Amino acid sequence: MLFTKGSIKKTVKTLGSVLTKKYKDKEVIVLSLLDGSFVFAADLVRQIKGDVDVRFLKIKSYEGTESSGSLVVARDFDFRQLDNKHVLIVDDILDTGLTLNTLCKQIRNETEILSLATCVLLDKQVNRTNNFEADYVGFKVQNEFVVGYGLDYNGKYRNLPFIGVLKEKVYR
Ligand code: 5GP
Ligand code: MG
Repeated sequence: MLFTKGSIKKTVKTLGSVLTKKYKDKEVIVLSLLDGSFVFAADLVRQIKGDVDVRFLKIKSYEGTESSGSLVVARDFDFRQLDNKHVLIVDDILDTGLTLNTLCKQIRNETEILSLATCVLLDKQVNRTNNFEADYVGFKVQNEFVVGYGLDYNGKYRNLPFIGVLKEKVYR
């Protein structure tokens, strides 16, 4: 066990009030990355008071417990829907940074947005070759494979109300 239901709740609430201030008097599109961020995003948007427009983008970069090194973005997502908006990308966890780094570049290249920021619940303490950093972070975690609160291992454990480290014997 790394983070209990109670500590996650407290942290999400804090992030929500920081984001409420940041987007005060602005309309923000919260772009939740599927599948992993669905639980976090659901709780987070309810802590952001104001004009919030929630959209979803299906992305895949992980196979089992490892980053695959390449990013697959759903083809039916029209990036132009972000034009002239403040965009906040929400993801469950930042690891190699491949997902968020690639996506932020693509958004900057293909759209005319007003602003772009990223928020992750978990930030893995690893050396990232791309030096990507998220703007808003809930917790820092060691370089271990974690599950729960939306984070899965091959589709399982997303329903755990807490976040824990997956025992190696499960995947070895
Ligand atoms: P990155 O592109 O930064 O390497 O990885 C980000 C994505 O990989 C996350 O959105 C998440 O889906 C997945 N991921 C990275 N680390 C973990 C982990 O420890 N546990 C789980 N369940 N998924 C992870
Ligand atoms: Mg993910």
